[in-house]
Amino acid sequence: MSPDPSVLIVGAGFGGLAAAIELVRHGHRNVTILEKADSLGGVWRDNTYPGAACDAPSDLYSFSFAPNTKWPKRFAEQPAILAYLQDVAARYGILERIRFGVEVTEAEFDADHGLWRIQTSDGSQLTANVFVPAVGQLSRPTLPNIPGMDRFAGAQFHSARWNHDVDLTGKRVAVVGTGASAIQIVPAIAPQVAHLTVFQRSVPWIMPKFESWYLPAKSGLFRLLPVMQTIERRGWWSYFEFVSKALDGNVAVREALTTIAGRHRRSQVTDPKLRAALKPIDAPGCKRGLMSNDYYPALMRDNARLETARITEITPNSVITEDGGDHPVDVIVYCTGFTATDFLAPMKIRGTGGKDLHEQWTSGARAYLGMSVPEFPNMFVMYGPNTNLGAGSIVFMHEQQARHIRQAVQHLVRNNATYVSIKSDVADQFDDEIQERLSHTVWTQCMSWYRDASGRVTTNWPGRMSEYERRTQFDARSYETV
Ligand SMILES: Cc1cc2nc3c(=O)[nH]c(=O)nc-3n(C[C@H](O)[C@H](O)[C@H](O)COP(=O)(O)OP(=O)(O)OC[C@H]3O[C@@H](n4cnc5c(N)ncnc54)[C@H](O)[C@@H]3O)c2cc1C
Repeated sequence: MSPDPSVLIVGAGFGGLAAAIELVRHGHRNVTILEKADSLGGVWRDNTYPGAACDAPSDLYSFSFAPNTKWPKRFAEQPAILAYLQDVAARYGILERIRFGVEVTEAEFDADHGLWRIQTSDGSQLTANVFVPAVGQLSRPTLPNIPGMDRFAGAQFHSARWNHDVDLTGKRVAVVGTGASAIQIVPAIAPQVAHLTVFQRSVPWIMPKFESWYLPAKSGLFRLLPVMQTIERRGWWSYFEFVSKALDGNVAVREALTTIAGRHRRSQVTDPKLRAALKPIDAPGCKRGLMSNDYYPALMRDNARLETARITEITPNSVITEDGGDHPVDVIVYCTGFTATDFLAPMKIRGTGGKDLHEQWTSGARAYLGMSVPEFPNMFVMYGPNTNLGAGSIVFMHEQQARHIRQAVQHLVRNNATYVSIKSDVADQFDDEIQERLSHTVWTQCMSWYRDASGRVTTNWPGRMSEYERRTQFDARSYETV
């Protein structure tokens, strides 16, 4: 193995950038990112909808090695997060390593030469020692399959593909869905539209959002005394470690969260009928828990209406519900989520002996620590199966994965090895343990994007961030080194 093995990363979101920066900061120069879009940022490039913001505090939802004293507020909005990513990529010399407009379509491990052979949509072929897919869990939007959608005469689009050419002023707008994006969009557009109908299928748990502007004094303090920002970050980290107890069955924490959310709803929604319609049925945290101070007030506006009957059809100018309701609308916004459980699709990935990754995953995606799959040597997935969090920051998880990959590369170099491959028994034991633990979590109590069609929880990590940090220390004994 050369002293600087080639590493090819797919995707230039938080994950791909985390991996590239970690390698470059440790002296590896042979790092390339292929990004299918024409700019970096991943979900923060794509989700430009009104009100788009993170719901983990920015001091935690950012790289530990690159604190940002310029966050305008605690939960930064999309433009600030995208600007942060652009700035960090430039500062760490990553920009010149990204090839934009190149989509990876296939990757195959060539065991004879110990190399990954990668095909791209423009017909070119590349090789790399180490292959790092960092394509995220939430980068491919899902649209519902409602009869008549194709006949709708007005504008319709997914929240992650916001059509900024459509002026919503004075329009009748339908928002389909009540997940994380919808609860940000609804308050942002409600004052502008003539009428807003929010179609709710399941009722989200909504907690108060501890929002605050970062006044110049606070930013100045962070610049002067960086330790203060580290303390703030650490405080939020501990808070999420505590909250995640509720998700794996701690009754006291779950009840505390239920009480806080209930109070929030009762204090904000004065209309008893609306309040009843907004009372969640599922266990808290079973679907993604949300935070908002302005969603409920937006639904109480005179020009807004919450519709709980199921949508059965879309006509050229209205949405029809199962109770026969006919809701005339000019624009439909689908806040219907992403194909989260279709990991690494639609790329074709083949390991040793031509083994197809997606055939291996027909009974659900799985990988050791969410990164390594037996017989797919030198492949490390970022934000792979079972690495999403019900409470916490995915960027924290990315950093642990990036470190693990860098340690694996260092191990290859130190041992003059061609590849490492996770041992099957280690991967199987890990998967059995994770699934067993997940069976006791709240996520098995309702259907959500955390579960694939068979009901297997394939997206989420069952433990705390601290456990993931500890377990992702690279341990060569888990891998076969060749
Ligand atoms: C609206 C929204 C808000 C969110 N808020 C939070 C939050 O507050 N806290 C939190 O922890 N998480 C949040 N998330 C989750 C978010 O997905 C992660 O935090 C994180 O940004 C994922 O980064 P990523 O790099 O892994 O994936 P992505 O950001 O999805 O980036 C993947 C990149 O890969 C590229 N790509 C995909 N396929 C290919 C291919 N075949 N070839 C080349 N390039 C390819 C894509 O174009 C994209 O740029 C949010 C997600 C969304 C959608």
